[in-house]
Amino acid sequence: MSKRRFALNSLAFVSVAVVLVLGAGLAAVQPARAAAPLIKTQAPGYYRFMLGDFEITALSDGTVDLPVDKLLHGMAPAQLQQTLAKSYLKVPLETSVNAYLVNTGTKLILIDTGAGKLFGPTLGFLVANLEASGYRPDQVDEIYITHMHPDHVGGLIAGDKPAFPNAILRADQKDADYWLSAANLAQAPADSKGFFQGAVASVNPYVAAGRFKPFSGSGELSPGISALATPGHTPGHTSYVVESQGRKLIVLGDLIHVGAVQFGKPTITIGFDSDAKSALAERLQVFNEAAKDGDLVAGAHLAFPGVGHVRNLPQGYAWIPVNYSIIR
Ligand SMILES: [Zn+2]
Repeated sequence: MSKRRFALNSLAFVSVAVVLVLGAGLAAVQPARAAAPLIKTQAPGYYRFMLGDFEITALSDGTVDLPVDKLLHGMAPAQLQQTLAKSYLKVPLETSVNAYLVNTGTKLILIDTGAGKLFGPTLGFLVANLEASGYRPDQVDEIYITHMHPDHVGGLIAGDKPAFPNAILRADQKDADYWLSAANLAQAPADSKGFFQGAVASVNPYVAAGRFKPFSGSGELSPGISALATPGHTPGHTSYVVESQGRKLIVLGDLIHVGAVQFGKPTITIGFDSDAKSALAERLQVFNEAAKDGDLVAGAHLAFPGVGHVRNLPQGYAWIPVNYSIIR
């Protein structure tokens, strides 16, 4: 090697070394962007869309892991696992709990309230998401409850006070008679007593304030919003039909729990049903009607926001979630 070439090589080596040292120095001052800490929180849980002149806001209360292999009736555990796997899901199934806020332009009406403190730490975010969506609990005029299970009424209260201080509370009389009954609580098996106690604790502050106004069966509750009696899941289970400018949304409540299973095989029922046969009949009737008319439906336990269409298949139904849309 000539002296000149050696000198050049040395220069190159020194240059590389300088760059490396400088680089190391810079790295110490300015960490790589990939070292940003993980945020690990979900986006605010609301999804908004227009239904004619009405503004609908789907609100997430959170999710709960359900042992659906123990809860669903009518399918062998191995087949259930296979069916879930086709949708890339497994047991326990992370299940959404959704509620729906309707602004009619003259009234703000909340359908269901999530679980509050009754169903563990992964639920109870309804009010936080309602606030994130731009509303306040004291603006809610009326609350319509699909049924008095804890994951639908728990959010009615904050501590032992109404979480919605100005709202009238409405639910079917049959659910009130069943879930608020001291005799039914006394007779209930130990592992079901919590359902009754949760309903009483959640609803009674509204009863005490003279703001619980039960209704009986189907009928209009407010211009554009009607109760639709769909009993079976509970004695007074109610779906709500919201209509504006010829568009219709059916808020199903708990007519369906596990979309990945029950759309394809709607005859599968769930252990929470008071009367599984009626629950099944109501599910088929409402789904058939929604499929025929092309109505939107919204499910309390369909993956958030839980809004979409159902289409008839030779067997069962297809679920078509709404296309993401901005408001304009
Ligand atoms: Zn439910």
